[in-house]
Amino acid sequence: MRQLEQRILEDGRVLPGEVLKVDGFLNHQVDPDLMFAIGSEFAYLFRGEGITKILTVESSGIAPAVMTGLQLHVPVVFARKHKSVTLIDDLFTAEVYSYTKKTSNQISIAKKFLSADDKVLIIDDFLANGQAVQGLFEICDQAKAEIAGAGMVIEKVFQTGHQMIKDRGVRLESLAQITSFEGNQVHFASETTD
Ligand code: 5GP
Repeated sequence: MRQLEQRILEDGRVLPGEVLKVDGFLNHQVDPDLMFAIGSEFAYLFRGEGITKILTVESSGIAPAVMTGLQLHVPVVFARKHKSVTLIDDLFTAEVYSYTKKTSNQISIAKKFLSADDKVLIIDDFLANGQAVQGLFEICDQAKAEIAGAGMVIEKVFQTGHQMIKDRGVRLESLAQITSFEGNQVHFASETTD
């Protein structure tokens, strides 16, 4: 998605540890027009899949997920992050290791918001090693919900998340695919295909 790549080039900052900081439009301050365009793109890509629900993880996945839900006319559920293991019977839970925070969190979704009747689209801000998506897969499995696809705003294709999703046989759509941060610059997969 050209508009998103352009914004990453203008606003993104490459940090040590192969982390891209995009707090100017996605991770802290949010650009609603860009988020709307991102939601439109995901809604277009997944329009024929019969999606009944969108799942994401708080907090940075919520903006693109809501904009997608707005245009697919389906509810959006965000998994909450818990530090302690206070297991309650009415929750689906999974353990997720955070790429940026280097800590483990339990994520959970109330059972009343996900069921075997659902066809789920997973949306998140970044795909790195796929831990967050893996956690949402586990929660869908517990609910016996069908997974229709995964939509990632920014994917770092040189990390392992891409393969994990493909191995599971789930459709993956990423709006910006970063191939490397060589020379402290952002390089996109589209550079080689244009
Ligand atoms: P994963 O679970 O795929 O390893 O990492 C995905 C999560 O880690 C995302 O939800 C995002 O919050 C965070 N993350 C991973 N890589 C980056 C990055 O390069 N920049 C930012 N801002 N967040 C990242």
